[in-house]
Amino acid sequence: MGRYTGHADAVVRPRTTDEVAAVVTLCAAEGVRICVQGGNTGLVGGSVPPSHPDGSRPTILLSTARMTDVDEIDIVGQSVGVQAGASVATIDTAAGRAGLMFGVDLASRESATAGGVVATNAGGVRMIRHGNTRSQVLGIEAVLADGRILRRWSPLVKDNVGYDIPGLLAGSEGTLAVITGVLLRLVRPATGAEVAVIALRAVDDATALIGAARDAGLTIEAAELMTDAGVTLVHEHGGRRPVATAAPFYLLLEVSGTGGVQDVLLGVLETADGVLDAVVEPGPGRALWEVRERHTESISRSTATPVVKLDVSVPIHALGDAVADLEALAGSRDHRCRPILFGHVGDGNIHVNLLDVPPDDADGLTEAVFAVIAGHGGSISAEHGIGRAKSAWTHLGRSAVDLATMRAIKDALDPQGLLNPGVLFG
Ligand SMILES: Cc1cc2nc3c(=O)[nH]c(=O)nc-3n(C[C@H](O)[C@H](O)[C@H](O)COP(=O)(O)OP(=O)(O)OC[C@H]3O[C@@H](n4cnc5c(N)ncnc54)[C@H](O)[C@@H]3O)c2cc1C
Repeated sequence: MGRYTGHADAVVRPRTTDEVAAVVTLCAAEGVRICVQGGNTGLVGGSVPPSHPDGSRPTILLSTARMTDVDEIDIVGQSVGVQAGASVATIDTAAGRAGLMFGVDLASRESATAGGVVATNAGGVRMIRHGNTRSQVLGIEAVLADGRILRRWSPLVKDNVGYDIPGLLAGSEGTLAVITGVLLRLVRPATGAEVAVIALRAVDDATALIGAARDAGLTIEAAELMTDAGVTLVHEHGGRRPVATAAPFYLLLEVSGTGGVQDVLLGVLETADGVLDAVVEPGPGRALWEVRERHTESISRSTATPVVKLDVSVPIHALGDAVADLEALAGSRDHRCRPILFGHVGDGNIHVNLLDVPPDDADGLTEAVFAVIAGHGGSISAEHGIGRAKSAWTHLGRSAVDLATMRAIKDALDPQGLLNPGVLFG
């Protein structure tokens, strides 16, 4: 991102949970702060240590890069145990060999780790079908801030003994414990999937089209929105234009079903409003997916200043208005910059990328985007978490009592404040 830099007095790369526990025990005894890093693909600065070293409290970076074991797949139970540093791609490939798949997928799959996707409760492109990462977690192993190992590792689908600690650690961004292993639910891959990129007149046409596909009996596997500015940028960086007709918006739609999926999809496209052009390919349709997945890289390569990246969500009925307001904001006299918006449209999730922002306007622009999102009843963090980037704005998404409850949980589990200081709580 080119936005975050930090300072660590040492980097530690443990191989086993016992080694993590030994490191954390030592840090607890000496008051050393720990920044946990998985694949370092997070987009809110949570895996980067604080930038100013604090003389009295050294900081280590604890990397899970060597904790990459993947256990044998439990085909009957549809689950797998993995170490925290196993990448999403590795887990998915292992699951694939057993005829299953990991229900979380994202363009950072080669680097993003199990620990990272759990710690951020990542959403990704399959969220519309299989839910977020939290809902894939059956069990967890973690080292607490005092060095003790907590292991709740049961494949039981029904097991209601007390608090949902795996659920709590999902989305905790390294502030409550170091996740060392995860027992993950696996899902069955779709059959007969078709992938389409549809050129559309308006955002509301995309949401209507998703509804029409559902009504026609199709299962939505993914639904991603792109704008003409984004598709053009990807094209400038060597990507292909998916359809011949230029349009304000493009919907990448992946659908599945039982038999005749392509015919049903073509029928939906013929009768839907706002369709200017479309291309349909049998799944996995990697060439079509590439257009969407190359957005982040193309954006990073074509901005003069660090990108202001804001991952927000709004109620689906407000998406069209929110996108229009965000584009108007970026063109306004007060905040002139280049907006590239894309996102998981079926979840109401917009990735706001603002390029060429004068550095002294980054915070002002962030505030202005959050004001637009709040005005539409949305959230300042849809799936990337809070990290360091958004810690000043959590009050926009949670009440004072809610924030105090989170703080009480943090203080109970990490009374010395050693785990990922500066993340989530500022
Ligand atoms: C091209 C691209 C596409 C992306 N697409 C998506 C997307 O579709 N959906 C989405 O949600 N995100 C997306 N992301 C963001 C990112 O990939 C996710 O946030 C991912 O979950 C981070 O995983 P990581 O292993 O890289 O974690 P890191 O970046 O290393 O860390 C992220 C946070 O998790 C904490 N953490 C990491 N490992 C552990 C652990 N073992 N124990 C405790 N805390 C830990 C860190 O301290 C930090 O706070 C994308 C990023 C890129 C670059």
